[in-house]
Amino acid sequence: MDIDKVVRQHLEMEQSFSGFALKGKAGTTEPQQQQDNHVQSEAEAMADAEKAAELEKIAEEVHQCRKCGLGSIRTNAVPGEGSPNARIMFVGEGPGADEDAQGRPFVGRAGQLLDKVISAMGLKRSEVFIGNILKCRPPENRDPRADEIINCLPYLQRQIEIIEPEIIVALGAHAAKTLLNTTKPIGQLRGQFHEYYSGLGRPPIKLMATYHTAYLLRNYSQENRRRVWEDMKKVLTELGLPIPEHSTG
Ligand code: URA
Repeated sequence: MDIDKVVRQHLEMEQSFSGFALKGKAGTTEPQQQQDNHVQSEAEAMADAEKAAELEKIAEEVHQCRKCGLGSIRTNAVPGEGSPNARIMFVGEGPGADEDAQGRPFVGRAGQLLDKVISAMGLKRSEVFIGNILKCRPPENRDPRADEIINCLPYLQRQIEIIEPEIIVALGAHAAKTLLNTTKPIGQLRGQFHEYYSGLGRPPIKLMATYHTAYLLRNYSQENRRRVWEDMKKVLTELGLPIPEHSTG
């Protein structure tokens, strides 16, 4: 491992994605403040509680799941976490070593970078939902296999049906190709909205494909960071949220 490169990347990440630090636009209301101003009705509170309970049920099923070989070699399954009312769902590929150890999505280095991207968007991690195509870690972080995706995808599909996000952000090629059922490369898919169909009679959900933060760490150029930020700005604009000022370094 090239230690110098890793340290340099880390320092750059600290500088530029904390440069993603937020200065909300003057005169605009911060999303959190907008949310705080909203007084929840009893019916809304009931609906939230129901959604949370349904998501909990899926998480329990995931913890018991042995549908593929990954179920017997995991330390922890990683069902996903976040708000049942999330307007945005971030979907990655599958847990890595840190996620497998903790049972939580995106908690390693790629997760720390995702946290910075979310915070640069003016959002809190607890306001979005973060999940994966696979709920268990493939050995040595190899690519997900078709049989694993086929067995695991229904959990994510059900999570999407319950949360009904306005936008799904597919992080990386595996998430984007799986959710869009395409073989197109991520370079062609990213940067534009696609439609994700969650079931008959349900309106399509807008899906933005972008680079995975693990890819970004491996290819930490200003151009790649700019591309991800451009993609996230489109997401914010689509949601009618203010675009915080920041520098991608
Ligand atoms: N990479 C992913 O795709 N998902 C995680 O949860 C962590 C890293």
